[in-house]
Amino acid sequence: MKFIIANWKMNKTVHESLDFVKKVSRAKTRHKVVICPPFTSLNSLASALKGTNMLLGAQNMFHQDSGPYTGEISPSMLKSIGCDYVILGHSERRIHFQENNEMICLKVKAAQRHGLVPILCVGETLSERRNGNTFDAVARQLSLCLSSVKGPNILVAYEPVWAIGTGNNATPEQASEVHSFIKLQLKKRFGKDIPVIYGGSVSPSTIKSFLSEKSIDGVLVGSASLETGTFLKLI
Ligand code: PEP
Repeated sequence: MKFIIANWKMNKTVHESLDFVKKVSRAKTRHKVVICPPFTSLNSLASALKGTNMLLGAQNMFHQDSGPYTGEISPSMLKSIGCDYVILGHSERRIHFQENNEMICLKVKAAQRHGLVPILCVGETLSERRNGNTFDAVARQLSLCLSSVKGPNILVAYEPVWAIGTGNNATPEQASEVHSFIKLQLKKRFGKDIPVIYGGSVSPSTIKSFLSEKSIDGVLVGSASLETGTFLKLI
């Protein structure tokens, strides 16, 4: 069993989300499938996914429980509607919304406090890779985002920034090398094996090569998770 996590990003109305789930939720799979729709579709999908073997995740949240934070969503709100997972620190949030490692760390802790499993995204930029700084960049993100995080109830997504939405996936060997490094850091940190999944232009034609790597515990998929036919091939 490996994880297949769909990150729909800012795509699909509630109607489109429900229509998608109706078409795929009875599909047989031996993997753990998690769908992360936009906030507006979460509540409807929580009902639609009941009784299926698919789980629900959010794409972001704020770290406070409640209060004057216009436009934000709290971990308890997510938990109360049946979310199990939340993607945190996605590179698109770091790039477009200036999220930094310190903010992400607060979110990781808040998610865990409320019984949500954080899917913490880390990954190097193209220039970091070209300059031979991949491991340093990833180690720094891990160290800062997990600072004083106690519980091992977490998933880490290795998402090289240059591979997200570009059609330019890392090779399974490149991913595996970084996964082994991340797994070692996490084992030292938590004394336990933590799942590490790969994200970055995964498609039906490449998914097998990733899932067959021992160090890759699953995939986080953006574009290829949006269309039912492609998604069914993935799962
Ligand atoms: C993502 O956004 O997490 C992602 C992996 O996107 P894509 O599959 O489109 O590269």
